[in-house]
Amino acid sequence: MFDVVIIGAGLAGSVLAERLAKSGKKILVIERRKHIAGNCYDELDLSGILIHKYGPHLFHTDDAKIWEYLSQFTEWTLYRHRVKAVVDGKPVPLPFNLNTLREVFPPSLADKLEAALLSNFEYGKRVPILELRKSTDADLKFLADYVYEKIFLHYTEKQWGLPPDKISEAVTARVPILIGRDDGYFSDRFQAVPKFGYTKLVENMLDHKNIKLLLNTDSREVMELSGEYVRLFRKRFKGRLIYTGQLDELFDKKFGELPYRSMDMKFETLDAEKFQAAPVVNYPNAYDFTRITEFKQIHPTHSTRTTILKEYPQAYVAGMNEPYYPLFTDEARAAYEKYSAELAAFKNVTAVGRLAEYRYYDMDDVIKRALEVAAALV
Ligand code: FAD
Ligand code: UDP
Repeated sequence: MFDVVIIGAGLAGSVLAERLAKSGKKILVIERRKHIAGNCYDELDLSGILIHKYGPHLFHTDDAKIWEYLSQFTEWTLYRHRVKAVVDGKPVPLPFNLNTLREVFPPSLADKLEAALLSNFEYGKRVPILELRKSTDADLKFLADYVYEKIFLHYTEKQWGLPPDKISEAVTARVPILIGRDDGYFSDRFQAVPKFGYTKLVENMLDHKNIKLLLNTDSREVMELSGEYVRLFRKRFKGRLIYTGQLDELFDKKFGELPYRSMDMKFETLDAEKFQAAPVVNYPNAYDFTRITEFKQIHPTHSTRTTILKEYPQAYVAGMNEPYYPLFTDEARAAYEKYSAELAAFKNVTAVGRLAEYRYYDMDDVIKRALEVAAALV
């Protein structure tokens, strides 16, 4: 009956469903949650504020093709993300930049450090903290150690349960030191949030006569891998299987569990028009949560109340919480590679997405990858 079965109705699964359905294929999407859109899922809360249930999601890309593709399914609210980090009790601009320098140091020291930065780096350059720490210049070394201690070390330990030098350098490089004065969190050309939310965007993607959606169903209830074959509803399935869940689960964890990092997402609605100085405020050095998001500052809403989200990192425990982040250590990657090699035996199965490929994909990365896979399959 179906040409393609897709496990997971997040962005990866939904983009593939949309592309392949348009090419005439019959698609079944199986999703274990009671809703579509994966971790991008958003909904109106009781105060009429659009909240992101699985953490703040800000769309950003430099790729005009991805922007155009998504624009078929949504109108946009242009939105430049801003983040502050609390340093010694004061919220200051993040990424750390030349404005931040002036907020945390007295003018004469800020002048000296700014001169050191500008004589060593081109204006506008983005320098990862772990690279800046390798500086031999005394002023730059002092600055790097300060920023490392005040912004990165304790936040990273909270977020990952590991110090920055124990995880891939690419993780902290996502938030580089900016040799410039732009307080925007991202530097991409296109930055926005879908006007009516991500759930609506994905709903529009899946709205096609060739797509059938089965919610509240874990693929393990209806599908198994046996020998080199996929069995679906107890029969051999000869079509294409696209899997966007955790790869260890697909193989009954035969090589052990892949480590992921989870988060306890705690929402609070307050009787106040506004709560904080920026849409997201990070707390590197105090509290058990990493950051607070105020959703009204992302999706402007007329309400006398405001809803905030505190994110408390925790270990992932299967069945107890959500696998939000693959762990970016060499050991975890090596464990993943065993599953990946096992998957290669299944000629009609493709793993796509943040969970299945065990990558730190942002939304635009996932869409790019899903579009590439779709192009190869039509
Ligand atoms: P998912 O969204 O995880 O979708 C996978 C789906 O598969 C889920 O719905 C899951 O329930 C389902 N599934 C899994 N296993 C099974 C199974 N066995 N049977 C049935 N269904 C199954 N990106 C940005 O670009 N900007 C941001 O600001 C941003 N913020 C983020 C904040 C947080 C806290 C997190 C965790 C991620 C953030 N991201 C952000 C990344 C973004 O969420 C991902 O890039 C994107 O959602 C990945 O899509 P996906 O389809 O690969 O995975
Ligand atoms: N990071 C940090 N302090 C901050 C912000 C980020 O140490 O105030 C580090 C931390 O290791 C984090 C990584 O940079 O996990 C990436 O941050 P990003 O904001 O991209 O994380 P995400 O939004 O994906 O959770």
